[in-house]
Amino acid sequence: MEKELLTIGSGEAEQPFQWSCGKYTSKFLTELRDHARIVGIRCPQCRRVLVPPRNVCGECFVPLDEIVELSGKGTVVTFTVLSFGFVDPDTGKQRPVPYTWAFIKLDGADNTFIHYVEETDLAKLRVGMRVQAVFEEQRRGHLLDIKHFAAIAEQAGR
Ligand SMILES: [Zn+2]
Repeated sequence: MEKELLTIGSGEAEQPFQWSCGKYTSKFLTELRDHARIVGIRCPQCRRVLVPPRNVCGECFVPLDEIVELSGKGTVVTFTVLSFGFVDPDTGKQRPVPYTWAFIKLDGADNTFIHYVEETDLAKLRVGMRVQAVFEEQRRGHLLDIKHFAAIAEQAGR
């Protein structure tokens, strides 16, 4: 049976709205934009560092306010390589495939951070691979100021 793949677009719909990122997400995004730097926030009670920063520790329910600078290096915890494109809600255009989407445990952080990884070759990708953030030249205060994470030649746990 021949398959017919249909595509439905959003037509001419335009959704011009803005919302406040809040104190800590604004700090996170301005650090990306102005310093090409990733920051997290430390819980005063459990001492976990969470990235991106947020107002409250989900484990301890206490307010957070200690911003911590991270190196931008991390370890891939899990990943997937996508080979079926979809319209990127950020750009309104289809992201070229294949691309890799990964959970990355940044050095100095206790949770994982989700972002693109440059490598798409399944023979080269692996859980535990070391990666480093690569920043856009022109940054705008957006999560995609981090272009992607790229593999670096070093062992996990450094
Ligand atoms: Zn905590």
